[in-house]
Amino acid sequence: MKIAIASGKGGTGKTTIATNLALGLADKGKTVQLLDCDVEEPNCHIFLKPEIESSSAVTVPIPRVIEEKCTGCGICADVCEFSAIAVIKGKVLIFPELCHGCGACKLFCPEDAFIEVPRELGIVEEGKTNGIRFVHGLLNIGELMSPAVISGVKKAAGDPEILILDSPPGTSCPVIEAVKDAEFVLLVTEPTPFGLNDLELAVGMVRELNIPFAVAINRSDVGNEDVKEYCKREGIEIVLEIPDDRGIAEAYSRGEMVIHALPEYQKTFEACWTKITDLHEDALQVEQQGKTATES
Ligand code: SF4
Ligand code: SF4
Repeated sequence: MKIAIASGKGGTGKTTIATNLALGLADKGKTVQLLDCDVEEPNCHIFLKPEIESSSAVTVPIPRVIEEKCTGCGICADVCEFSAIAVIKGKVLIFPELCHGCGACKLFCPEDAFIEVPRELGIVEEGKTNGIRFVHGLLNIGELMSPAVISGVKKAAGDPEILILDSPPGTSCPVIEAVKDAEFVLLVTEPTPFGLNDLELAVGMVRELNIPFAVAINRSDVGNEDVKEYCKREGIEIVLEIPDDRGIAEAYSRGEMVIHALPEYQKTFEACWTKITDLHEDALQVEQQGKTATES
């Protein structure tokens, strides 16, 4: 079971839910791995306090011109989809921070005038904590290519019973990279107009990706009923509601896990997981029925 915890905007409680779900399942004896894919601002480690065992660089191969071979034809600039190369007055200029390392310029250069050199974008660290295998990525300051580091985090995934991905917030490329091959997505929101707006965007994204999903509402007893009414209208299950509890805020500010500081929430997260696995099972059955119908 590979589940991504995502939200249309930051600060909704996504990390609280990802880390407490992971810890609750590990406490129950499941093999769990948590991937913190929010590589621009990873913070699962603040709560889980993993013991880091290894670290590796994430690099992208960027082109370097062998000037003696280059004729200044400009083909490399034409084929680069990311505007990472310009050829001005026969001289090749490369903008490394825009280069995605796709290799097209090298492939199409008629003079074989490129070599590739690695450029570090960030690091991936692996470790363990409280029975959870832990991986997170850290994008270097000023870098733009977070999807490459997210991909590096995902490559470090093992084969646990349950893989939980804490996605970056929003609905742009880094989020797609994090959630695209998840079997289920839990969308975290708050019952406010902003929360609803960003939830609608996130729902559009997971529907486009055709991934089964459900909603978790954090601070569910503040704001208004619009999120619940939206979910009802759209036939979206709400599998978790966490109240605006001062005890949670205090635990959060101390960097403590909710289910350890307030054990009564263990059952809340257990019930959420049961609903998620039921919905996932239903989605698998529907998919299987679709396949059977197509084959017959
Ligand atoms: S395609 Fe090759 S030869 Fe042409 S400008 Fe680029 S590096 Fe130079
Ligand atoms: S490797 Fe790809 S992205 Fe980078 S400069 Fe070449 S064509 Fe552009």
